[in-house]
Amino acid sequence: MGSRIDTENTFILSEKIAALETIHRISLAMSSKLEIDELLQFVVDEAADLLSTSSCSILLPDEETGDMVFHAAIDPIVGMRVPLGEGIVSNVFRTGVPQMVNDLATDPDYYPKIEQNSGRPVRSLLAVPLLVEKKVIGVLEAINKRGGFFTKGDQDLLMTIAGYTAIVIENARLYKSIQNHASSLEQLVAERTKELQKLYEKVQRLSVTDDLTGVFNRRGLYHLGEREIIRARRFRHHLAAILFDLDLFKQINDKHGHRIGDQVLRVIARLCSREIREVDIIGRYGGEEFVILMPETPIDDALQTAERLRQCIEQQSILTDKGEISTTISLGVSGIKDETENITALIDKADAAMYLAKQAGRNCIKRIE
Ligand code: GH3
Ligand code: MG
Ligand code: MG
Repeated sequence: MGSRIDTENTFILSEKIAALETIHRISLAMSSKLEIDELLQFVVDEAADLLSTSSCSILLPDEETGDMVFHAAIDPIVGMRVPLGEGIVSNVFRTGVPQMVNDLATDPDYYPKIEQNSGRPVRSLLAVPLLVEKKVIGVLEAINKRGGFFTKGDQDLLMTIAGYTAIVIENARLYKSIQNHASSLEQLVAERTKELQKLYEKVQRLSVTDDLTGVFNRRGLYHLGEREIIRARRFRHHLAAILFDLDLFKQINDKHGHRIGDQVLRVIARLCSREIREVDIIGRYGGEEFVILMPETPIDDALQTAERLRQCIEQQSILTDKGEISTTISLGVSGIKDETENITALIDKADAAMYLAKQAGRNCIKRIE
């Protein structure tokens, strides 16, 4: 009698040790770097081994349809679905109550399609909920107890393993959502940086652009001019400047209004921009005064350009809201010399030449070497 109890106790003890060892192995696997799917497969294999069942599987709900989908299971079953509300698995998922069925043939809730589709007969089934803080997130089930029936002890063991498994799944989900969050934040930061870069470029462009005419403003003109003069002096290249001023522009303003005057200024800037080379730099120097800087250009060539501009403006009738208006310009041309130290000196010379043109009766060109 006593020896029978001892044998039973020894049996129970060895079962408990096996259970503890299984749980220990699952804990170790959890802290290793296995992928979630590998980890779940590891769990079901260990559970099947411990419970002496032909297989174990994990079913998780499809968020959209509510179907229970096999995630970790023996091969042909992975990916199969138990439709929403069908079968023992759905009962366990809905109620959170474990279910043990030792004679499936007589259970009205049994969903036989999986068995039919996989071609593996199922006789007994033990299904327990995967719980995270009382919320059911899936189901762990064991199929076909070898050589006997599922017991309350099997259920307790599977519940313990299910507790671990639920944590594994939840951790993996949290990790994924953190990763997604981080990558969407990263994307947001990249987009914002791009926007900022664009804004910065726009501000930079605007800070050197004249609002009215779209050509460089005085700041832009001097900034680029300074670079050109350094380059020209360094390599002893030519650099010429044309400065022109509209003739009797005040009369246009007085006669037609300031707004029409603005329209004229815009057209003049556009005409001149069209007449010069791409490497030339045109900027609004003052109210109705413009400067054109011409890299690599001897003063004689600049004079030809100046004459082309003079004729172009003289011949152009400018269409405004108050009809067509004609105007002329007076131009001064200067060229870089050894003593021309900076852009101000070059432009001042062109300015002085322009005054000579005004004195000479306007609508003409003067040069100062
Ligand atoms: P001159 O041939 O001697 O250059 O005669 P002018 O009338 O052009 O010269 P003045 O310096 O007497 O007048 C320049 C005028 O340009 C005065 C000013 O009202 C006008 N002006 C300056 N800036 C602007 C502007 O942005 N828009 C308009 N519409 N007029 C401007
Ligand atoms: Mg003028
Ligand atoms: Mg003027």
